[in-house]
Amino acid sequence: MTRTTPALVALVFALPAAAQEMTDEQKSTVTEIHEPVPETVETSEDAPPSDATVLFGGENLDAWEGMEGGEAPWTVEDGAMRIARGEGGIRTTEDFCDVQLHVEWRSPEETEGYDGQDRGNSGIFLQDRYEVQVLDSYDNPTYVNGQAASIYKQHAPMVNASGAPGEWQSYDIVYTAPDFSDAGMLTEPARVTVLHNGVVVQNDVEIQGKTVWIGAPAYDEAHGCAPISLQDHDADVAYRNIWVRPLN
Ligand code: MG
Repeated sequence: MTRTTPALVALVFALPAAAQEMTDEQKSTVTEIHEPVPETVETSEDAPPSDATVLFGGENLDAWEGMEGGEAPWTVEDGAMRIARGEGGIRTTEDFCDVQLHVEWRSPEETEGYDGQDRGNSGIFLQDRYEVQVLDSYDNPTYVNGQAASIYKQHAPMVNASGAPGEWQSYDIVYTAPDFSDAGMLTEPARVTVLHNGVVVQNDVEIQGKTVWIGAPAYDEAHGCAPISLQDHDADVAYRNIWVRPLN
């Protein structure tokens, strides 16, 4: 069914007399947009969208470096990259702002002796600052704004969509970077949507500032595009199939 919006009605009545003699077919074209034409993206079940930047395709850490630069200290095995515990996190060599980000991760199958924040803890830091928590939250209570798919210490996920320990899980993240004035004041906070294993768990929530363990988050420094980083929180978490689509 074609719906006539108030704006369109106003437009048609505002047309000069000659234009009012247009046929409905002609009038219908007044509100059509023809350019720019969206670019074509190829999609398939087993591959990233054709316009995605692959950050980890299973073979090497070429898109990554250590947190102070230099070679990424993590290892690659069976198509997955693994945290080298105690060696620190890794970050992309490229900077990103607004993105669609796909990440798959797996926490250890063996959970004996590990509870709460100590069970499969890692994290995805957008712009190297804002953490989407990675944690084994399958039958593993902790503070809810620190469980899997929380925006750490800010927003709990709406539901717990966690898979079992040792299972591959996915995050699909849509992230809008914060904006700052020329004087360095925050003008728009960052926003994020997260799907955990295909389930929406964060719906366009406002990020309150840089992720911190103690105290309140704040935007204490203006910044531009920055790397995406992955946390070494001393757990054997593995990652695979990571790709990103810059949105700006
Ligand atoms: Mg973490």
